[in-house]
Amino acid sequence: MSNTNASHAAKSTHVLPSYLNAEHLGPWGIYLQQVERVTPYLGSLSRWVETLKRPKRALIVDVPIELDNGTMAHFEGYRVQHNTSRGPGKGGVRFHQHVTLSEVMALSAWMSVKNAAVNLPFGGAKGGIRVDPKILSRGELERLTRRYTSEIGIIIGPTKDIPAPDVNTNEQIMAWMMDTYSMNEGATASGVVTGKPIALGGSLGRREATGRGVFTVGQEAAQHIGLDITKAKIAVQGFGNVGGIAAKLFAQTGATVIAVQDHGGTVYKASGLDVPALLKHVGEHGSVKDFAAAETLPDAQFWGVDCDILIPAALEEQITATNADQIKARMVIEGANGPTTPEADDILHERGILVVPDVIANAGGVTVSYFEWVQDFSSFFWSEEEINARLVRIMREAFAAIWQVAHDHRVSLRTATFIVACSRILQARELRGLYP
Ligand code: NAD
Repeated sequence: MSNTNASHAAKSTHVLPSYLNAEHLGPWGIYLQQVERVTPYLGSLSRWVETLKRPKRALIVDVPIELDNGTMAHFEGYRVQHNTSRGPGKGGVRFHQHVTLSEVMALSAWMSVKNAAVNLPFGGAKGGIRVDPKILSRGELERLTRRYTSEIGIIIGPTKDIPAPDVNTNEQIMAWMMDTYSMNEGATASGVVTGKPIALGGSLGRREATGRGVFTVGQEAAQHIGLDITKAKIAVQGFGNVGGIAAKLFAQTGATVIAVQDHGGTVYKASGLDVPALLKHVGEHGSVKDFAAAETLPDAQFWGVDCDILIPAALEEQITATNADQIKARMVIEGANGPTTPEADDILHERGILVVPDVIANAGGVTVSYFEWVQDFSSFFWSEEEINARLVRIMREAFAAIWQVAHDHRVSLRTATFIVACSRILQARELRGLYP
């Protein structure tokens, strides 16, 4: 690590993530366990299952930038294309100080599964840079984004692999990625990324799409277990793009959002938090911390809060064997990718708590990304009503099909989603055959 990077890391207050512990499975290990669980249900397609256990392509890039103080810093970046049997790679880009190759591999694989689960014509990919963007200036962030885009430019493109926002990346970063790729190509290529600003070919409804999808599958799942959403008490971890929008939509139907946790702390109010006011507070202060109209809870107590629906919408491996016993909710809706470890999955299953898995619950974002990509290719843009209606229809139909498979095979919703998705991916693999 260079001195600059050392001081960069020293400024970060985060503790080491559990996946840096050698005895820990890590996100890629968790994904492999999920594939093991689905294999017995794949019939003759299981002869192709090894395809799912390795990424098609993984690129590691050095991203050097000049900092504002004139010194140089080097960051490690990744772009992984897990599978492209069903179409171009598709998946977000994450800027976070704990990003690792293993994590990006797992996230790319979950994108393959998710895209197939909602039947989008995409494979799975993901990217990231190991950096805490919160301590970079705007200029440093732009230089970092542009250099990273240029480095991965050899494998991305509107028909090859299409990045999008993820943790700590947003519309502005997508605009810089689109511009950098277009400059190198010598032509404006708006379809190279999704989640762009509307003025650059972004789609109406994209910013809210993942949270809206979480809300839609939440409504569907609640009906199946006889839970009245309008009377439900909700706890949300992560109050960014996914958690913030999901909380807003649940609150708008009359549900009571009683607890919210983000990287700054945990706020609680038994009679219900004022979600719009909390969103405003986060917009101004960067975190839910110090929100005056609520109590502050110690972070560990968040998991035991007395709620009906728990929505993890922050990072991986948050619900583990250590806290799964404390959860009081009737249903967990995974807004985040990979928030529940396999041990915790089993504990929740035994305790009769329904888990709506990430690979269907948070598919709303990539679904509207697909709409954005289609609109960019045709240069013809749809209304927000049209987009939301199509999104809700796709999410409901996908969820109904997965619920049926879970019922028929007596498996969890996660295994059911993997059965549907992996069958589609491997069927495409079989039809295409091996080259040469
Ligand atoms: P974001 O950057 O907008 O928000 C992340 C939130 O998580 C913030 O509120 C942050 O404070 C919180 N957080 C970070 N570290 C935390 C910690 N240690 N404890 C508690 N909270 C913490 O990111 P996002 O886009 O909302 O993504 C959240 C999750 O949803 C990620 O797992 C991401 O992969 C997944 N996801 C996002 C999208 C999308 O369209 N944005 C789509 C599908 C899945």
